[in-house]
Amino acid sequence: MPGFKVPVDDYLFLFNEVMDMQANYKHIEGGDLATPDMLEAIFTEGAKFCENELAPLYQSGDEGCQWHQGQVTTPEGFKEAYRKYTEAGWSSLTGNPQFGGQGLPTSVSSAFNEMLNTANWAWAMYPGLSEGAVATLQDHGTDQQKQVYLSKLISGLWSGTMCLTEAHCGTDLAQMKTKAVPNSDGSYKINGTKIFISAGEHDLTENIVHIVLAKLPDAPEGTKGISLFIIPKFLPAADGSVGERNAVNCGSIEHKMGIHGNATAVLNFDDATGFLIGSPHSGLSAMFTYMNVARIGTASQGTAAAERAYQGASAYAIERLAMRSISGVKNPDGPADPIVCHPDVRRMLLTQRVIAEGSRAMVCYASQFADLYTSAVDPKKRQQGEDRLGFCTPILKGFITEQGVVAANYGVQVFGGHGYIKEYGMEQILRDSRIATIYEGTTGIQALDLMARKTLLDKFQQLKIFTSEMRRFALPYILSTKTSKSLRKYAWLTVKMAVKWRYLAFRTALQAKKNRDAIGAGSVDFLMFSGYAFMAYMWLMMAAKAEAKLESGEGDSQFFRDKLHTAEFFFERYLPQSKVHAKTITSNLDSLMGMPSDYFDNSK
Ligand SMILES: Cc1cc2nc3c(=O)[nH]c(=O)nc-3n(C[C@H](O)[C@H](O)[C@H](O)COP(=O)(O)OP(=O)(O)OC[C@H]3O[C@@H](n4cnc5c(N)ncnc54)[C@H](O)[C@@H]3O)c2cc1C
Repeated sequence: MPGFKVPVDDYLFLFNEVMDMQANYKHIEGGDLATPDMLEAIFTEGAKFCENELAPLYQSGDEGCQWHQGQVTTPEGFKEAYRKYTEAGWSSLTGNPQFGGQGLPTSVSSAFNEMLNTANWAWAMYPGLSEGAVATLQDHGTDQQKQVYLSKLISGLWSGTMCLTEAHCGTDLAQMKTKAVPNSDGSYKINGTKIFISAGEHDLTENIVHIVLAKLPDAPEGTKGISLFIIPKFLPAADGSVGERNAVNCGSIEHKMGIHGNATAVLNFDDATGFLIGSPHSGLSAMFTYMNVARIGTASQGTAAAERAYQGASAYAIERLAMRSISGVKNPDGPADPIVCHPDVRRMLLTQRVIAEGSRAMVCYASQFADLYTSAVDPKKRQQGEDRLGFCTPILKGFITEQGVVAANYGVQVFGGHGYIKEYGMEQILRDSRIATIYEGTTGIQALDLMARKTLLDKFQQLKIFTSEMRRFALPYILSTKTSKSLRKYAWLTVKMAVKWRYLAFRTALQAKKNRDAIGAGSVDFLMFSGYAFMAYMWLMMAAKAEAKLESGEGDSQFFRDKLHTAEFFFERYLPQSKVHAKTITSNLDSLMGMPSDYFDNSK
């Protein structure tokens, strides 16, 4: 597999040129720390860590974790890389300074997480999960819980997990069976089994803090009866150090399709001691703090798959010789032309590239709202951040992870037969990428969240805010005589996407009045259309900035010209795919729901 290079220029372009991050930072605590110089230093040093320490362990880590009598050993080199990561202070980048964190904005770690994921997805999940545990305790923990756990988690000395799934339920958590019974000392006795717990057992840290959903004896039916608990692997001693072993044990780890270096554990809680987080029966809403953090991290795993697959495929396409170009010989001294000359290979490479760069911009854009939500000084801004991030999250998670799989698949295809062979590393990216569309809520569930909760129940408010902003941004480029012909076209296409996006939402609402299944029938296509619309806005922003930079003669002109080439491919050849989704959303329902369920019963 070719070496991996972090696209630092692209992060700096987004942070310093395309988005007005500095203006947003003025509204948040710790924003003053993230100066352009500081951002450059963090991204450059972070890139070195990812390229030198993590990327070389990506392929070897595919050998996987080993389970022996409840203990898990991570692949060779993982532990050492984790030690270097924590010693260099990377784990505390955005942590609360009160608990030893460096207090930088969430958007900074969001970009850094993408680098980590691209360099070594399976490894990056170990510290990635701790971030969600920190966010949950920060928002919902008692002062004492914060004192005991936060500094350990922020420093990376301890790690975190999220434990929702049980054998019979992952999506439908109302069916959960894990039980919590109060002890006389205020703690709880927890019994049950959780499955598929990422980073559930490993040898990287001295303690693992499980954040677990369970039901109290008096729990009401359904999701309103779920509570949230901290269940540490080792109970903290009075002085805060690691104390007695708790009754939580790793029964096994899964043999799975990808991310072999990350242990997916079965955890048995047999009279384990747990501590309630927040109030009884309100665990699921508290857990959403964790899930919102994890969902944005998962979205950037889609970007990571696209970036890594693109880097591998583009390097191969330059070197690999096959046939002659139909438009004339390109490599007269060689036996054949490089495959990068062939239009279909370019189609695949450019698709990967628009996905990687476009989705990176989407996550960066939304990370401004994450900054407001987590750290705005003004409560109104905090609410605004939460609302806007809430609308973006299912689109980021659902659309980007699906596109990440598309890009990883093209990585295999560009390599031809070699893509299918383990040694070349491309099939690993495809296998790894596949889980991102499943965990943290499947694409189908993200789509329902976007359509039902974030659009229809919201009475289109957030959709209107988003699409109005798109139009406000694009219109001046349509009206100005100074705009280039291409940019005017991109702006026009973006406005059309904004208008169509709203229309599709209204049409579905009307259809749903007659038949409620219209929501589920169109929701994934609506999610995908939303992703294309969101990405169109991002590509317009990037193209506009690149054109302005070229006109003013500032910066690296090759970088900006490349950006404009990629933008052209996006608008000409990638965006038209949105039309299929638009058409399908409003197709007749009978083709999907008309047949009885036993139509699918092959035993009859
Ligand atoms: C490698 C790996 C790591 C994981 N890590 C974690 C972890 O750290 N913590 C954790 O708690 N869990 C974890 N999970 C579990 C994961 O989050 C669940 O598998 C996922 O949420 C889906 O749940 P399920 O498997 O029960 O599928 P089900 O809920 O049974 O769903 C099956 C299918 O039905 C669809 N479906 C279900 N309900 C509806 C509906 N109402 N409308 C439309 N479609 C529907 C789903 O979209 C899916 O396609 C992990 C799983 C894996 C494989």
